[in-house]
Amino acid sequence: MTFLTDLQCSYCDKRYDADSLRNLCPSCGKPLFARYDLVGAKSRLDRDEIRSRPEDLWRYRELLPIRDTRNILTLGEGFMPLVHATRLESELGFDGLYIKDEGLNPTGSFKARGLSLAVSKAKELGVRALSIPSAGNAAGAMSAYAALGGMESHVFMPADVPQPFIAECEALGASVTLVEGVITDCARIAAEHNTDGDRFDVSTLKEPYRLEGKKTMGYEICEQLGWEVPDVIIYPTGGGTGLVGMWKAFDELQALGWINSKRPRMVTVQAQGCAPIVRAFHEGTEFAEPWEGAATIADGLRVPAAIGDFLMLNALRASSGTAVTVPDDAMLEAANTLGRTQGIFACPEGGASLAAFEELRSSGWIENGERVVIFNTGSGHKYAHLWSGSRAAD
Ligand SMILES: *Cc1c(COP(=O)(O)O)cnc(C)c1O
Repeated sequence: MTFLTDLQCSYCDKRYDADSLRNLCPSCGKPLFARYDLVGAKSRLDRDEIRSRPEDLWRYRELLPIRDTRNILTLGEGFMPLVHATRLESELGFDGLYIKDEGLNPTGSFKARGLSLAVSKAKELGVRALSIPSAGNAAGAMSAYAALGGMESHVFMPADVPQPFIAECEALGASVTLVEGVITDCARIAAEHNTDGDRFDVSTLKEPYRLEGKKTMGYEICEQLGWEVPDVIIYPTGGGTGLVGMWKAFDELQALGWINSKRPRMVTVQAQGCAPIVRAFHEGTEFAEPWEGAATIADGLRVPAAIGDFLMLNALRASSGTAVTVPDDAMLEAANTLGRTQGIFACPEGGASLAAFEELRSSGWIENGERVVIFNTGSGHKYAHLWSGSRAAD
């Protein structure tokens, strides 16, 4: 069973029933959040009982939105390792570094979490065809869960997306449309192709339940640290579902009485070639201006405009966090460091997390002994061209 009650607009607070299909708030056009009866959940759930459950994100199923467990589409997503990075610690002369390694998820990235939830809920609400604009990983994840649910999937990716992302979607039975431009152009074309309006759009934060899948990263980190939050979380940020989801998770966990009021300092890392949230954070604005000419090897970070911009900026500010950029070559170098020291073949976005950590450490923003969680958000396998290319040029 679930303690889901309804949906609430994250901006104007209006409430909507959670049992019909919805995208953005019909009143103000901002993202909707799933809400739960946390008072009821607090009296009925025991955090220590969770420990004996299967090791996937469905261990938190009462705080996820699926009403009938028969609608759950699962490939084993979630409950990824929180690695205490001791070899990396000794190389960097630091004590307290943890890697949340999301590369082991189905389809090789943490996008599996959000899409497992979104596609399961869409199935529960009777959807037969899905559509998604994606920088790469979200398209593969949606295709996998749509296949499992016997649903049609239509994916729209930038034409210059690395080939493995396209191959993955095709093998998973999706219809693939390549679009000149970036993810925001893909969104426009996806809407134009949906002439009958029968394809449900599961874009980041335009669909309410991907966030619920991503919030489980916050639940897991706390559970894995013995129901404590770390001091700092560094998150490679595109559309921001993970950042916003974890921030929501901490409030829910506190309402359940499973953690106290301490919060981690939340850090956004973006690419030097596409950093709308970092720029808005430092300019002190509520929303972010779109980034012109977005370019980076980290496909997941090539997001020039995000509907959840104000939610990310709020989490960064409310947590006394910060926002930094890193150049592409530093991401790759850091990915190699993760590989060489910890045996993790990281995506460039994961490299960005480590590069940001090193920068914040040397500026003194992070102090030795603080407990820091960095994210490797996906496997390096779909980005292998970044390595073989440099070798060939040697
Ligand atoms: C999508 C993606 C990101 C960014 O995640 P958001 O939650 O959209 O900010 C980071 N890394 C990888 C590998 C991704 O696929």
